[in-house]
Amino acid sequence: VTVATRPEIPADRYAARLERVRGALRSAGAAGLLAGAGPELRYLTGYAAPLLERLTMLVVPADGRPTLLAPRLEAMRGEAAPAAAAGYAGVAAWDETDDPYALAIQALATRPEGMPGTRAGQPDSRVLVSGNLWATHVLELQRRLPDRAFGLAAEVLRHLRMAKDDDEVGLLRLAAEAADRALAGITAGPLVGRTEADVSREIRDRLVAEGHDEASFAIVGSGPNSASPHHEPGERRIQPGEAVVLDIGGMLGGYGSDVTRTIWVAGRDRQVDPDPAFTEIHELVRQANAAAVATVRPGVRCEAVDAAARDVITAAGHGAEFIHRVGHGIGLETHEDPYLVGGNVDRLVAGATFSIEPGIYLADRFGVRIEDIVACRDGDPEVLNALPRDAWVVDG
Ligand code: ZN
Ligand code: ZN
Repeated sequence: VTVATRPEIPADRYAARLERVRGALRSAGAAGLLAGAGPELRYLTGYAAPLLERLTMLVVPADGRPTLLAPRLEAMRGEAAPAAAAGYAGVAAWDETDDPYALAIQALATRPEGMPGTRAGQPDSRVLVSGNLWATHVLELQRRLPDRAFGLAAEVLRHLRMAKDDDEVGLLRLAAEAADRALAGITAGPLVGRTEADVSREIRDRLVAEGHDEASFAIVGSGPNSASPHHEPGERRIQPGEAVVLDIGGMLGGYGSDVTRTIWVAGRDRQVDPDPAFTEIHELVRQANAAAVATVRPGVRCEAVDAAARDVITAAGHGAEFIHRVGHGIGLETHEDPYLVGGNVDRLVAGATFSIEPGIYLADRFGVRIEDIVACRDGDPEVLNALPRDAWVVDG
C-alpha cells in the first residue's frame, strides 16, 4: 500500500475562516456564534472535541477574540487544536464546580466601540448556535439569555463550508481512493456462504487498513436486501446468482468517503450468469450516474443534477423506484450541504463536493446503486472514485 502524504490544513487557514465568520456575523447583525463539539467547531479550529455532556464551546463574538471553552480535563486537547496553538483563539478551561454557561455568555460579551454601524453589540442581537449543539445546552443558554433570538450557525457557515479548498479536496480524494481499495479488496472474495454482517466487519477492517482513521459504515445488502438502500447488514448468507449492494465509507483526516458499487455474485467458475433484468437495470443506473456527473459545473442548480439522473430513470419507466435524492454534500460530515434534491435551487460553487448516487430498487427482487464522490471544478468536474461502473461480475 502506497501511503500518500496527507495534506494538512495550515493554522492560518483557521484564522482566515474565523475572520470571515466574524465579518459575516457583523453583516447579519448577530452578536456571535456558539459552536459545540462537532463539525462546525472542527471547521473553525481544527479541534475534534469528544461528544460528551460537559460543555465544550467555541465562542466567536462578532467583534472580539474567539474563546474555546473546554472542561479542565480536556483543556490540553483544546490547547493543542491548530487555531488555539497558533493563538487565533484563547482557551478557557472550566472546573467541575464552575458554571460553563456563565463563562460562555461572558466570552460572548463584546465591546460596543468595536462595532461602528452594526447592532452586534446590542443586548437583543441574535446568537447563532451550531446545528448539532445538544438541546440541553441550547435550552439552558436560552433560559439565561431571554432577550436574544437564536439562529443556526449554518447561516454564516454553510457557504464557507461548501466551497472546499484544495487541501480539503485533497483529503476527500485520499479518502475516496482508500475506500476504492477497500471495496475492490472485498470483491476478490470469498463472499458466497458468508453473512452480510461478517462481510461488513471485514469491510470496516479494510477501510482502516487502507488509510482511514475510522470506518463509519459498511452496508452489505444481498439478494432482496439490496432493494433496501440503508439495509442493516444481518445474518443472511450471500448466495451465488444474486446482486449485492456494497455502500461503504470512513473518515480520513476529518474528511469522509462514501462509495457504492453493486456487484453480481456469480459463484465459483461463474456458476450463475447475471440475470438479464439485473444487467438492464444496472446499465440504466450507470447512465443516470453519468448524466448527473455531466451536468456538474459552477452555477448549476442542485436540483438540476438530481433531475439529470432522474430523467434517465423515469424515461425508462423506473421513476417510482428511484426513491431518494441523487446526492448529498460530503466533507467534515458524510451528509452535509449541498443536498442534490428536487426543489433545491441553490447553485453549485467551485469546490463543492458531493455524492452522485442514483439507484433503482425493485422490492423483493434486487436493487442497484452506483455512487461516486464528485468535486465541482471551474472546468470539468473531478470524480474522486475510480472503481469500474460497468456491471461488475465476481466469483464471490
Ligand atoms: Zn453511500
Ligand atoms: Zn452517500
